[in-house]
Parts: sequence; structure tokens; C-alpha cells
Amino acid sequence: MLRGEGSVALVPTMGALHAGHEKLVQTACDAHSNAIASIFVNPTQFGNPADLEKYPRTEESDLEILDRVGVAAVFMPTATEMYPADEETIVETTHLAQKFHGAVRPGHFRGVATVVTKLFHITQADVAYFGMKDYQQLAVIRRMVRDLHFPIEITGVETVRDHDGLALSSRNVRLTPEDRTAAPVLYEALSQAENELKSGKTVEAAIEAIRRIIGTEPRATLKAIDVVNARTFLPAEGVPSEKVGMMISALFGEVLLIDQKEFTP
Ligand code: AMP
Repeated sequence: MLRGEGSVALVPTMGALHAGHEKLVQTACDAHSNAIASIFVNPTQFGNPADLEKYPRTEESDLEILDRVGVAAVFMPTATEMYPADEETIVETTHLAQKFHGAVRPGHFRGVATVVTKLFHITQADVAYFGMKDYQQLAVIRRMVRDLHFPIEITGVETVRDHDGLALSSRNVRLTPEDRTAAPVLYEALSQAENELKSGKTVEAAIEAIRRIIGTEPRATLKAIDVVNARTFLPAEGVPSEKVGMMISALFGEVLLIDQKEFTP
């Protein structure tokens, strides 16, 4: 039940909740009396139907977590409620959606922007919380909100990691034990690239370091590395003086993992 007056905060999720989601929800609950979590596995952001099919669904434990953290409401729509049969309207950040991770996942960010727009309108939230792990997603949403004058504030939350540095993700449960052991190579590569940039090396050298480290792990197939200016989201080059964001994605078996770091060199 929403609790009287006061601001409404929204935390959109696709369920299969872990400590990363919990941090987002906790941050929202700490700052707002009306924190709403949504759980919706959004079909339009999956390019591959098998990936959608295999997406983990753990409704019962999700609701337990959300109850324990203390949300005011949980919004769990069905696909037909979110997407009426004759619907035809989409929301797209036309350039940003095609670049970086968008280039290896065509249509993904259009699906995200469209469903997040629907969630913002349905919940009438004043503030929404998103994880920095999905770094380009956060940039897409910030740009959409700015460009379309949505009356909502967007807050990014730092990535929660496992003890060995692997970013928590609902997809991690699909990794084989061997791939799970290999997957922290993503964080290792990002950390090394951060050291390179902080010691005055170029973006090109940092990218090379990432390639080298991922190359030492035969279980990882690198899909994309991008280093951007955190403010403009344009590619960073040379020796950057402003804050940068590094994004990386790699396949372990058939599971695509992503990770990121943002820092001032
Ligand atoms: P998802 O359910 O994967 O769509 O994620 C829902 C929200 O949780 C998104 O804003 C994600 O960026 C965020 N999130 C996912 N993993 C983490 C993590 N390890 N740490 C912090 N936030 C996360």
C-alpha cells in the first residue's frame, strides 16, 4: 500500500533478485516512504527467444526479499497488460541505442526505453533507481528523460560484486561451475585498464590491456569493449582528463555477461 503523501520511487527489475537489486531497493526505501519495485521480464529487450525463455524466474523469493526490505508496493504486470495486441508505439534513443553494447544487441535499448517509459507512466514515480552495472542502459534512460522532458529524477547506484569481483547478475546462475570460476576475468581486466589510465596511459593502451587479459581466459569470448567520456557518452581517446566509463561484454558459454567501471583517471 502506498503510504500517504510523499515522493514515489521506482526500482524497475526483471526479478531473480540478488544483493545488487536489494541495494537499489534499499537505497530507494531509505530515501522515500513510497518505494515501488517492478518485476517484469520484458520480452522486447531480448533479441534471442531462447534467452528470454531461459531467463530465471524466482517470484516467491523475490517477493520475500522485497517484503523484508520494506517496499510499499510491487508491480508485476503480465506481458499482455504491458503490450496490448495492436500496440505500435516505441521509444528509442536513435543514436545511443545503436552504439556500443547496442551494436551487438540490436533492438535491445529500444525495448528497454519503451518498457521503462510505460513503467514511469503507470507508477507516476518521482524518482527511479538504476544500477551502474548496466552503464549504457543508465545513459539511454537519462537521455530519454532529458530529451522527452519526463518529470522524473534518475539515480545511478554502484555495482554490487561477489567476493571475487564478479558483478552480481541474474544471469550468473546460468554459468557452468567452470565458467563461474573464469568470469571474474572481466573485473580483473577492467581493474587493470583503470590502473593503466590512472598511471597516465592512453585509452588505446587500456583497451589493449583488456584484450590481453580476456585473451588469457579461453572460456571468455570478448564481444565489446568501449571507453566513453562519462558526461557526453562519446568515445574517449588518448589521455582523458575527464571522468570515463569503461564497458565490457563477453560470452561464457551461451551466457552474455557485462560489467563496467566509472572513474576519473
Ligand atoms: P535487471 O533485473 O537485470 O533488469 O536489473 C534491475 C536493476 O538492477 C537494473 O537497474 C540493474 O542495473 C540493477 N542491477 C543489476 N545487477 C546489479 C548489481 N550487481 N549491482 C547493482 N545494481 C544492479
